[in-house]
Parts: sequence; structure tokens; C-alpha cells
Amino acid sequence: MQGLMLIDGQMTAGDAGECDLWVESVNPATLERTGRVPAATASDVERAVSAAVVAQRAWASRSVWDRATQLRRLAAAIRERGSEILQLEAQDTGNTIGKLQADIQIAAGYLEYFAGLGSEMKGETIPASADGLHFTLRAPFGVVARIVPFNHPFMFAAAHLAAPLMAGNAVVVKTPETSPLSGSLLGELCQAHLPAGLVNIVHGYGSPAGDSLVRDPRVRRIGFTGSVPTGLAIQRAAAESGVKHVSLELGGKNPLIAFDDADVERVIEAALAGMNFSWAGQSCGSTSRLLVHESIYQAVVNGLAERMAALRLGDPLDPESQMGPVNSQRQYERVMGFIEQTKADGARLCTGGGRPAGKEFSEGCFAKGYWVAPTLFADVQPHMRIVREEIFGPVVCAMSFREEAEALALANDSNLGLTASVWTRDLGRAKRMAQRIEAGTVWLNASGQHFVGAPFAGWKDSGLGGEECLDELLSYTQLKAVHWLD
Ligand code: NAD
Repeated sequence: MQGLMLIDGQMTAGDAGECDLWVESVNPATLERTGRVPAATASDVERAVSAAVVAQRAWASRSVWDRATQLRRLAAAIRERGSEILQLEAQDTGNTIGKLQADIQIAAGYLEYFAGLGSEMKGETIPASADGLHFTLRAPFGVVARIVPFNHPFMFAAAHLAAPLMAGNAVVVKTPETSPLSGSLLGELCQAHLPAGLVNIVHGYGSPAGDSLVRDPRVRRIGFTGSVPTGLAIQRAAAESGVKHVSLELGGKNPLIAFDDADVERVIEAALAGMNFSWAGQSCGSTSRLLVHESIYQAVVNGLAERMAALRLGDPLDPESQMGPVNSQRQYERVMGFIEQTKADGARLCTGGGRPAGKEFSEGCFAKGYWVAPTLFADVQPHMRIVREEIFGPVVCAMSFREEAEALALANDSNLGLTASVWTRDLGRAKRMAQRIEAGTVWLNASGQHFVGAPFAGWKDSGLGGEECLDELLSYTQLKAVHWLD
């Protein structure tokens, strides 16, 4: 597939048409070519922002009910082309198609959810003087940048349109450089169902495409989902080019903490589900750090190793596959690097530890692909890199603890604070852990699920600002105070 960008209502190759600047896309399972997209130049981005500036004025003057109707139409169109989007997405990302079905429902669901929240963008009246009327209004920023990562490129690009558009902004989306193809399908849908220029979709690299979008003086609000280093770079670039509102949804090194009274089988099940192996562990919320009470530690580690070894690795397009490859050469080298380092650090390898066994991965159809076996290291030490850094791959590490205070200290010993999962039947302990864990989301006797309307927000280096809830919508508005005195 040759994907194009959406700029000012036109599907276009932008400058790539003349300068031959294309990003090649491959199926990470086989390294067969899946297509290509144009790599936006700074002037492509400039045109996208200019179109957005014009379209935004008309959009903001429409009622929230009108905007909601258009968002719902876009949601319906996404559902209608759902299977086509999924086929492309599975081949372009390596995510397995069975579980990936949910991405279509999530994307459409957020467009519908935020469409229903229009009348919640309320202000206040303030009794600030005896005779005057003092009130606040919520106004859009104008043009919003939404920069998305590779792990769920369609879902993030589509769902992340909802809040800024509902708030009356126009949006320029920057897709990831690997797995960008579904962004072009989203472009076609936006072209068909939204006014020209309201949503613009540019492909390409962090620089120049992402960087020039962040630095454009007309872009005052940036919503970023991706890694911590890129989040920091975006904060710097934003600060160098204006006073801008930046929200960040970044990485995690999320603990799953199992106490001695937890049901071992349920903990194993949760550790498996929490790792999101359907996308090879490439999920910000993956519970990649297991902290298990010493009395059930061996049982959990052995049981989990067995379940991980039994996962069906295979073609992402096969609904029976439980895990595909990692997304790209960059991911493959990163994950393999962590595995080698952890072996050298002396942790105990319980399963995996390299490419998967099986002929298809060494000489068959998947021999060239970016395959990594689900890998579990036990008896890791707090100072090891595997414990401290997000790997973003199918790699879990486990360590034991004795006391509640030790478990809490280990859980919080991280610069990241996205999620945590706690397993215990002791109500008091569950409450204490929920109160004291330094993370934006805590699951009690559960792991992994997101709930529409509940904020998903990272603490510490995991992020800035909550999404998936009313606060996300309000964060795409700015307050204005009006004083009426005559
Ligand atoms: P990344 O940071 O490498 O890239 C994300 C996006 O930023 C891409 O579109 C990229 O082109 C762009 N980019 C890169 N440099 C840029 C720059 N200087 N200016 C502007 N844009 C730039 O992340 P990735 O590898 O695609 O995604 C994996 C990361 O995303 C992981 O750390 C993961 O935890 C995180 N993530 C977080 C959440 C969340 O909700 N907290 C969700 C999904 C993924």
C-alpha cells in the first residue's frame, strides 16, 4: 500500500512526491514490504498547520451538538472499515489480530464518549463584586498537535482526535515512523467525514516532522504519547518556541505485587494478561516487574514460566496466534540487548532468552522477522537495568520480598509511575498499598484493564495530565474570565 498524508482535505504525498522522501514499512513477522508513506518535511507540516488554523475558526463556531454529530459519524465509519484497518494494522505492526479487534472499538468508543461530553465544558459564575456578573468560559486552544507511538498507531491516532475536536480545536496528527500505514486510512475517513483542514495527518520522522510541529508558534497545545526521552525533547522544544501546554503519556516499569494470601493461579493469570503478549509486551501498562512474597514466589515463577513457554507465537493475521514479533529492528535490538545484559548480570533465566525455538523462526517463513521468545528472568536485583528501565518487549523480571514495607519500597523504587497491580485478600493491606504506591493507576486484584471515564495518567517520569476521562476534554480548553459591570 502507498499511504498518503491528509493536508487541507487532500490526500497527498506532499514534498515527497518531488523529493522522493518516503518511509518504507515492513511486516515485522517476515520483513516483507507492506508499503510506504511520505516523510513530511517542515513545509508539509507548515501547510498542515495553516490549513488547521483556517478550519478551526469555522469548527469552533459550531455548536457542541453539531461537533458531536460529526464525531459520531467518524466513529461509525471507523467501525464500518474496521476489518480492513485491522488487516493492515496487524501486518504493519506485528500485533496479533485476535486481541487487536478491540482497538477499533476503543477508537470509535472514545469518539462517541467525548461526543457525549460536549455540555460538560462548563464555566463558573463568581460572586466577585456587588453589581457585576463574573463568569468563566472554556475556549479551544486553536491547533492541537497529537503525536502518537507505534504500538497501537490507529487506535491512538483516532481516539486522540476526540477530545481536542470536541473542545473546538483543529488537529494535526503525526504518525509513528514504523507502522504508519493505518494513519493513511484514518486520513481517508477524516477526508470523507470532516471539514477540510480540520484534521491533518502527517507521516515521517521525529525530526523534521514531529519537531517542526511542536515548534510551530501556532500550535499552543501538544498531546504526546511515546517514550520518556522523546517526551523530554518535546518539552524542551515546546519551551524554546513559546509558552505551550504539553501533556505526556509516557513509559512504565509497572510492578505486579503478589502477597502471601493471593491465589497463585490468579496471580499467574494476571501476570500473563498484564504483560500484553498480544503485542509482544509493547504496552506502556505492561506489568514487567513481578514482586512476589517469598512463600509463593517459586510457585508463581514456575507457573508463569510454563504459561509463557506455551504461548502460541505465529502469524499476526492468524486469530489463533497469541503473540507476534516485536515491531521493528530498533525494538528487536533493544530487547535482545536487555536480554543479553540481564544474562551477564547473573539473573536466572526461566524461559525464553532469545529467538523462539521452532524451525519457522530459524529457517522458515519467519526466519528474517523480529521474533523474541517470551522471556522471564527470576531473582533479579534492584540495581539491574532490567529492573530499572522500560524494555517495551516480551520480557518479565521477578524478585521476592518478605515484608509489606519492603514490597512498597521496591514498587516505588523507580523514576516511573504509570501503573501497579496489587494481589491480596487483606482489605487493610490493599487500602494501604493503593494509598502509598506512586503510580497513576492501581489495580487491586486485577491488572491491565482501562475503564472509560477513569483517568489514565502517569506519575513521576511516566507522564503529565490524565486521559480517557472528562479531564482530557477540559485539558483541550483554556479558561477565560469575563467581567460584566455595566
Ligand atoms: P517514541 O518516543 O520513540 O516515538 C513516539 C512518537 O514521537 C513517534 O511518532 C515519533 O516519530 C515521535 N518523535 C520522535 N522524536 C520526536 C521529536 N523530537 N519531536 C516530536 N516528535 C518526535 O516512542 P515509541 O517507541 O513510538 O513508543 C513506545 C513508547 O511509548 C514507550 O515508552 C511506551 O511506554 C510509550 N507509550 C505510552 C503510553 C501511555 O499511555 N502512557 C501509551 C503507549 C505507548
